[in-house]
Amino acid sequence: MAPPEDDTKVTEEAMAAEEEEKPISTIVFVIAMQSEALPLVNRFQLTEDPDSVFPKGFPWVRYHGIYKDLHINIIWPGKDPVWGVNSVGTVSASLVTYASIQALKPDLIVNAGTCGGFKAKGACIGDVFLASEVAFHDRRIPIPVFDQYGIGAQQTFSTPNLLQKLILKTGKLSTGDSLDMSPQDEASIIANDATVKDMEGAAVAYAADLSTVPAIFVKAVTDLVDGDKPTTEEFLENLAAVTATLDQSVMNIIDFISGKCLSEL
Ligand code: SAH
Repeated sequence: MAPPEDDTKVTEEAMAAEEEEKPISTIVFVIAMQSEALPLVNRFQLTEDPDSVFPKGFPWVRYHGIYKDLHINIIWPGKDPVWGVNSVGTVSASLVTYASIQALKPDLIVNAGTCGGFKAKGACIGDVFLASEVAFHDRRIPIPVFDQYGIGAQQTFSTPNLLQKLILKTGKLSTGDSLDMSPQDEASIIANDATVKDMEGAAVAYAADLSTVPAIFVKAVTDLVDGDKPTTEEFLENLAAVTATLDQSVMNIIDFISGKCLSEL
């Protein structure tokens, strides 16, 4: 006998399908570093929100404004209150994504930032990738099923038209809380079949997925993990130039998205 229809699920699916047919109106960008966020804040002429939508005392910053027909929000998790550096990594990324979804009810999340690339998988410095899938590489739990939970592999929201129109590269993104790569991380990244590596993507995806908000991941390569130079040196050397490239890609993506609904992406 067929199981009884779950009415709530049927209604949710119908609502989601309806959402996909409405023009996209509100976009939340989650951007980990100030140096990545500010060029875009200037490009879109966004202003910092004086009455923060976030709880008092939190370092998270929202820049917002209207560009074409879109409400653009750039959320930067700010500087760590203790150490004074950019709050990079998965913990802040999940928290700000969740809080932004609650406060701003976006139609789409865009996690934009820099990443490390694997030249063995075809990545070059300055390439901009749209991730096809995200997963973690530093959550090892060698117990059946917990192992898969730890990896947390997820498909990203599919945007075939965007990918084709803007000629972006695509590949899998692997996320962990370290800038460097231990041999164990490397084995997991290979198992994840990743072309690019960052410190936020899968954590943003986790919060977006729980909230059923579609998310895309735009990542520009600052350093080659399997190249000859030390990661930190290469990252800092390329950060400014690669951020400018990222900036241009994000602009093109927003121009493409404007006036479209989710199902047209
Ligand atoms: N030294 C930097 C620290 C940035 S940490 C500073 O001055 O602030 C690296 C940031 O860039 C993270 O947000 C991460 O997502 C991204 N990133 C760039 N290259 C990376 C790599 N090889 N591995 C992991 N994350 C990388």
